[in-house]
Amino acid sequence: MWRSSPERELAASWAADAAAGRAPAAEAEEPPAVDAGAAGEPERPAREEQPKAELQAPARPRAAEEGDARVARRLPPALPLAPARPAARALCQLAKARGRGRGYRRGSGSLRPVTVDSSKARTSLDALKISLRQLRWKEFPFGRRLPCDIYWHGVSFHDNDILSGQVNKFPGMTEMVRKITLSRALRIMQNLFPEEYNFYPRSWILPEEFQLFVAQVRMVKDGDPSWKPTFIVKPDGGCQGDGIYLIKDPNDIRLTGTLQSRPAVVQEYIYKPLLIDKLKFDIRLYVLLKSLDPLEIYIAKDGLSRFCTEPYQEPNPQNLHHVFMHLTNYSLNIHSGKFIHSDSASTGSKRTFSSILCRLSSKGVDIKKVWSDIISLVIKTVIALTPELKVFYQSDIPTGRPGPTCFQILGFDILLMKSLKPMLLEVNANPSMRIEHEYELSPGVFENIPSLVDEEVKVAVIRDTLRLMDPLKKKKETQSQHPEKPITGKEDLDCEMTGDPDSNPEAHLPSICLKQVFPKYAKQFNYLRLVDRMANLFIRFLGIKGTMKLGPTGFRTFIRNCKLSSSSLSMAAVDILYIDITRRWNSVTLDQRDSAFPMLEFEPMVLYILGMCLQAFVEAFFFLAQRKFKMLPLHEQVASLIDLCEYHLSLLDEKRLVCGRRRRPQSSPPQEMNARTQSAAGSLAPRMIGANKLPHSRHALS
Ligand code: ADP
Repeated sequence: MWRSSPERELAASWAADAAAGRAPAAEAEEPPAVDAGAAGEPERPAREEQPKAELQAPARPRAAEEGDARVARRLPPALPLAPARPAARALCQLAKARGRGRGYRRGSGSLRPVTVDSSKARTSLDALKISLRQLRWKEFPFGRRLPCDIYWHGVSFHDNDILSGQVNKFPGMTEMVRKITLSRALRIMQNLFPEEYNFYPRSWILPEEFQLFVAQVRMVKDGDPSWKPTFIVKPDGGCQGDGIYLIKDPNDIRLTGTLQSRPAVVQEYIYKPLLIDKLKFDIRLYVLLKSLDPLEIYIAKDGLSRFCTEPYQEPNPQNLHHVFMHLTNYSLNIHSGKFIHSDSASTGSKRTFSSILCRLSSKGVDIKKVWSDIISLVIKTVIALTPELKVFYQSDIPTGRPGPTCFQILGFDILLMKSLKPMLLEVNANPSMRIEHEYELSPGVFENIPSLVDEEVKVAVIRDTLRLMDPLKKKKETQSQHPEKPITGKEDLDCEMTGDPDSNPEAHLPSICLKQVFPKYAKQFNYLRLVDRMANLFIRFLGIKGTMKLGPTGFRTFIRNCKLSSSSLSMAAVDILYIDITRRWNSVTLDQRDSAFPMLEFEPMVLYILGMCLQAFVEAFFFLAQRKFKMLPLHEQVASLIDLCEYHLSLLDEKRLVCGRRRRPQSSPPQEMNARTQSAAGSLAPRMIGANKLPHSRHALS
């Protein structure tokens, strides 16, 4: 599928970069904090733990992030400065003297600098400060009374009350990437597209799916007695390997008490990972979600590889508890005694991913294919996350109310199998951006040591994210899309191309380390965005601004407007469907998410009054699709029903538009109607109505 695709081209260029090799950096994520706004809880500080016995994960360092002391002492290469070009500069100056130059003139003072509120940046503050200095932007370390262009939050969207500008977090992201929520979102996609989403290990949610887990494992074992699986149990909301353990038999979970304690995910253990130097390792990649609607995704060209410190053996009852053999977390392996602080990008317990690719390439591995598979994994994962993120977004920043736009850097943790197939382990909403790490000088004596290699990698990711989010550049892009205001004369173009520092404030910076993968490759992946289109329908019928759950009236209106009821599906049956699915979803999700509603206060029978969440709506939608289009495979059933709904809604919008026109013959139609006209225009080709074309869709969610 990818062999001759643009991904291959991109992968080729990345593979070439990888072959050039880059320096390593620290990679641990910030411990996930509960998104205060989403879950109604305060964010959690970095935890401190004492060393544990072998059976459990050993202690992590006091800080949330780790680094490498020896690496830290190396000096990073200086940023290359663009050479001055006298002729070009003279041309630019001439243009300016004539008053015709219209390019960036932040440096020369005619445009105000971009302003950034860093008061909530927390552990990413140091890297942010350096980035801002390199960009020559203006930092407000204690906040500002006037609005800033960008707000940089260390943990959550809800760190500040913001009404404008851009924030580096999406509302709900922390919630979405928790192990259970991520597993649920990916499972929906696995149901629809099993082949495309086989990069995520089969997972079950505990305690609710324990019986299902036991039954499914028994069924496979009955069919194939030689199957000797291993499973990994991971507590929801855990991080840095905390509380993780392996089991051979589903019933072992009972013995550990996990079912009674915190919710968790139990997952098939990938028992044949790719080994290097006989060690298991994983990959941390930085991904920028630049915008939700339209979807824009960038991937950093290099990542980090974190190594185990004990030679790998396939799991057996004797080694099942060997943390340093099976878990790649830096925060665990640093305590093994066999941890090797890297003195180059390609050695030690933490290396650059490019150095791994380089090594694989020298052994004849097709690393372009590896990269393209990784890009595909990233895009598909983001596609699985975006529908519910949109629901969070419209709830926090309802259309028509003032609010910021959002972007976010995510940390993807990926495991390469022996077959070189990348498998997704998890996504971190707050990957560590620390550029220093704690070093244990002697037992119990710690010192913070600047890690210049971390600085190089993380500053590049932050700086280049900011460059991509530059509000002045965005303005310029918008202007160029509206050519009534020409933005540059020939001189300006010349100035930008020659890298005149006065005209192009980025002339002194290296090329951007983040590469766009979406919408660049949208054509290959858009067919996967069915749930996204379902989310658009869901949001349309939510009714009250700010809510995330669909009420019974909203669901009925959805059924009626989309003409889904019939003689075989009465409105009474619709009500029962709503109550049944909603009650079940609320009973399993309330204790995990809505801590504001203690379970005991609700009789199970009335749980439906809390409303239908998106995932419950998706389940109801699947049910309706299966009834209506019996003979098709599931994704075609669902796609057909979405088409049908969008078609009826566009007809309805068209009708409303005509009625509106009749009532207001003299006045121009309101803005909302204009949007609806556009949607209705697509009604003759309902398959063509994309996720972002429905009238309720935000103009731009980011
Ligand atoms: P945490 O957030 O606590 O780090 P992860 O899901 O990243 O949890 O798992 C921790 C480590 O366990 C990973 O870095 C990886 O080495 C190992 N691991 C996790 N899931 C699997 C799996 N399904 N198969 C093999 N190893 C896994």
